[in-house]
Amino acid sequence: MMRINGKRLLADLRELARIGAFKTGVDRIALSGEDIEARRWLVGKLAAAGLTASMDRVGNVLGRDPKAAKAILVGSHTDTVPKGGWLDGALGVCYALEIARSAIEANAPHATGIDVVSFEDEEGTYLPFLGSRSFFGELDDHEIAVARSKDGAALAPALATIAAEPPPHRCDAGRYVGYLEAHIEQGPRMEAGGNRIAVVTGLVGIKRFRVRSRGSANHAGTTPMAMRKDAGAALIALASGFEEDMRRLAGRDTVWNIGNMTFRPGVANIVPSEGEMLLEFRDIDAVVMDRAAARFRARVAEADRGPVRIEIEEIADLAPTALAPRLGAAISAAAAARGETPVSLASGAGHDAMIVARYMPAAMMFIPSIGGVSHDITENTSDDDIVFGCEVLADAVSRLRESS
Ligand SMILES: [Zn+2]
Repeated sequence: MMRINGKRLLADLRELARIGAFKTGVDRIALSGEDIEARRWLVGKLAAAGLTASMDRVGNVLGRDPKAAKAILVGSHTDTVPKGGWLDGALGVCYALEIARSAIEANAPHATGIDVVSFEDEEGTYLPFLGSRSFFGELDDHEIAVARSKDGAALAPALATIAAEPPPHRCDAGRYVGYLEAHIEQGPRMEAGGNRIAVVTGLVGIKRFRVRSRGSANHAGTTPMAMRKDAGAALIALASGFEEDMRRLAGRDTVWNIGNMTFRPGVANIVPSEGEMLLEFRDIDAVVMDRAAARFRARVAEADRGPVRIEIEEIADLAPTALAPRLGAAISAAAAARGETPVSLASGAGHDAMIVARYMPAAMMFIPSIGGVSHDITENTSDDDIVFGCEVLADAVSRLRESS
């Protein structure tokens, strides 16, 4: 059995947080100078621990256990959102580093090694999941050539700064028995429930719609109500029906949001001639997602039979990702052996594990975030919870090595 060093783990996390430090958080967006510096820092740490490590020309860092023919892949990402927190991504990578290093130090060679990965641009500055998608050969040159940040910066010149690095790491399909990713929860449930460990059951799917309404503008004082083609009122009715349906159809983990509604011309004394609404919903259960989508489409069709024309456009459709129960069970057992009953949670946010799960068994573990905060400089977790999470994940890795 390996034994992790909690002090060393915390020191690594704090050292990493200094690269791109911004007030109490970190600003280390993908492929920035700070991001690359952090990745080189990781390569140095992995090499010092005895792994064969390098950063490739998309920024992915991979550290391989040189003595193992098979391995468990452990990791996350070290890029952040602008003015982000110090733990989102970094936690999972530092756990992986500490676990791989402790396993080598335990000096009990095992046929199944521990490889460490930090994927590039998980946060989607240029291309969401750039690194994990590259690792599995999902990216083509065209996609890289056209990718731009929301501020219009192109991906290609950012990648050109590391063009001298080795060719992209590719997943060695025969090598990996599974992938483990630890992450802060990025939500309030664990803190509220007093849970220190969560086993993630899956990552939610997302459906997103744009709805447009078209009526006719007219004087809001002189046009009788029954004679109006009110594009605004039509959308409001639809929105309220959506809320009602979702409350009825929702499962435990369903969340939904009407993120925007606009009317034109947008003044008090003119009946709106046009409206637009953006909404989404997320769930771990594809059946709930499909049912909600069908119900909403039926509402739109029904509304379209009235005086206002209504069009619906699906602008995102991401299927839910199931994670591997066998790997999750190893995390549960490891937590239970340390006296903690883990809670099961669905992840409402995307993670690299979503991509990895397409190719190998994958699992995720959450530790609490104080106040449920993330993607902000106030993001934090207590030192005790950070160290405890790493101990549990290390035990889970040991269990999986024994059973692989
Ligand atoms: Zn993250």
